[in-house]
Amino acid sequence: MKQMWNSVISFLFSDVRNEKETKDLAVLIRLNCLLFALYFFITGLTVAFMQHYTLGLSTAGAVGLCVGAFIFTYENRTFSGLILLNTVLIIFPTLLALFTGYQCGFQYISFLNILLIYFNKANKPLLKRIYSFGLIALLLLLIELCPEFPLFMTPKGTNLIILQMLNVLIIGACMLVTSYCYSTKFNQAEEKLRRINENLERMANLDTLTGLSNRRHMNEYLSGQVFEYNHTGKVFTIAIGDIDFFKKVNDTYGHDTGDYVLTTVSDIFKKVMSGKGHVARWGGEEFLFSFENMKLEQAYAELDKLRQIVEETPMQFKDYDFKVTMTYGLEEYNPRLGIEATINRADNKLYEGKTGGRNRVVM
Ligand code: GH3
Ligand code: MG
Ligand code: MG
Repeated sequence: MKQMWNSVISFLFSDVRNEKETKDLAVLIRLNCLLFALYFFITGLTVAFMQHYTLGLSTAGAVGLCVGAFIFTYENRTFSGLILLNTVLIIFPTLLALFTGYQCGFQYISFLNILLIYFNKANKPLLKRIYSFGLIALLLLLIELCPEFPLFMTPKGTNLIILQMLNVLIIGACMLVTSYCYSTKFNQAEEKLRRINENLERMANLDTLTGLSNRRHMNEYLSGQVFEYNHTGKVFTIAIGDIDFFKKVNDTYGHDTGDYVLTTVSDIFKKVMSGKGHVARWGGEEFLFSFENMKLEQAYAELDKLRQIVEETPMQFKDYDFKVTMTYGLEEYNPRLGIEATINRADNKLYEGKTGGRNRVVM
């Protein structure tokens, strides 16, 4: 039973192949067609029972047209299905209203077309507005026409109640189905947009090779650190690290080995810096570290440990076995200098470390 239900659901919710049309609209039309086919069937029987035989028979046509619109959505003619359903929901409720009077409430069914056409993604707001006002005008006209209609026959007693109840039920059910489809559509669109934004933000902040923050994101982060320093006095120390003789790694082992070294040291940085601050790829083989809540001496101790870990880590790529070292310049943030000058000082110290023999931390 559950399997049968699942296959019915997957049949109703199956996608459309026409790329200009959406699955959402097709599903909405299918669900409404099923509801209205059932509705016109019961209505037809009821009005036939009231001796409106021609009217009863004509509602059989409405059932057929609903089935036609339903089939259209599987033939990748969703828009034709929408037009057909709209036509059915104008002609038949109008006829029923003319024959049975305004008080049964048939005419209100035409209003549901407004919900249906606005679900269509075609960007034709003026046309949709004109159509909606046309429907309202039709209903106003029916107030005048219904009592004048020559074949008019007001249902009475139980028949009237049945027809009124049927109309309340179908309008309620159609509103429910359509609102459900609207909410699903918007929730999905919002969720998709959220995911795209998240991805865009990640892409804008991260360096693709190493997965570390990029320079842009690090600058943002450092602005945050400066703001915090100014408001709470929380100190931080920055360092610039640069891989020693990296050009030689590329020249000797190839560019892909160079990339491997960059990702390997970056993985070490992520692990070691976790809970201590932030690290970013500042340029080609240069990295910028920020040690939060640490003055120069403490940051030096941490950074020197990191320097040793890099020095001792065996690099194994393809058939090559080697090690790399790095040189670092360290500078505590100085509010009198500002962040840029602090970074420049760290850079100068890095240069000192390079000329002084490399594989060291200069503070
Ligand atoms: P030093 O010890 O003075 O820093 O010498 P070095 O060879 O490391 O420095 P240099 O500035 O001469 O060379 C840096 C090299 O880094 C040159 C450049 O091709 C390479 N490089 C920059 N970005 C990448 C990258 O994304 N991948 C690879 N494989 N190499 C890169
Ligand atoms: Mg270098
Ligand atoms: Mg460099």
